[in-house]
Amino acid sequence: MSNDMQRRGLMLVLSSPSGAGKTTLSRRLLESDAAVAMSVSATTRRPRQGEVEGRDYFFVSPDSFTGMVQANAFLEHALVFGNHYGTPKEPVTLALAKGQDVLFDIDWQGTQQLRQQAGDDLVSIFVLPPSHAELERRLRARAQDSDDVVAARMARANNEISHWAEYDYVVINDDLDATLAKIKIILAAERMKRGRQTGITAFVGQLTR
Ligand code: 5GP
Repeated sequence: MSNDMQRRGLMLVLSSPSGAGKTTLSRRLLESDAAVAMSVSATTRRPRQGEVEGRDYFFVSPDSFTGMVQANAFLEHALVFGNHYGTPKEPVTLALAKGQDVLFDIDWQGTQQLRQQAGDDLVSIFVLPPSHAELERRLRARAQDSDDVVAARMARANNEISHWAEYDYVVINDDLDATLAKIKIILAAERMKRGRQTGITAFVGQLTR
C-alpha cells in the first residue's frame, strides 16, 4: 500500500490483566509508529508516582467525572477497582477523522461498549501473561500499591482474563520485543483490510482506465 493512500483510522484496543506488560507495549508502539495516537482516559483514581497529568490520565474528581458522564463526553466508561475510568470522546473523533489510528488501554467492560459503538472500526487484542507464576511476580513487583490493592488486583486479573475470548486477537507476552512485533503485524494487516482503504477504489480506477 502506498504511504499516502487514503484510509480510515482504526481503533486498537489492548486489554490485559494488570501486570501482563500492556503499558510498556502501548508506550513502545506509540514511540515506533507516528500514525498511532493514544487515547488518554479520565480517571478518579489518584496519580501514582511518575504519572503525568494529560499523558497517563486526566486525573479528575468524582464530581467532574459525573459531570462528563452527564455531558455525554465519554465514548465508554466503567468502574474498575472502585475507581471510575472513561474515554473522552472528542480527541478520538478528531484523531480518526485525520486518518490516525487510536490506541486504547481499557478493560473488558470498556471494550464491550466500544465494540457496540464502533463496530468494524474496532480491533481488539488481549495480552496474556506467560504463566500464573509470572503474573503473580509482576503484580507483586509493583511495590507502589499496598498489599490490599495487590490482592484486589490478583482477583481482578482472574476476572479480566476470563474475558479473553471476547477479543479478536490473543497474544501471550513471554517476550516484550516478540509481542510488540506481533502487535505490529496485526496492525499492519488490519490497515490493509479493503474496507479501511478508502482511497483504493480511485487508485484501482486509474490503474485500469
Ligand atoms: P490503572 O489504574 O492500573 O492505570 O488501570 C486499571 C485498569 O483500568 C486497566 O485494566 C486499564 O486498562 C483500565 N482502564 C484505564 N482507562 C480506562 C478507560 O478509560 N475505560 C475503561 N473501561 N477502562 C480503563
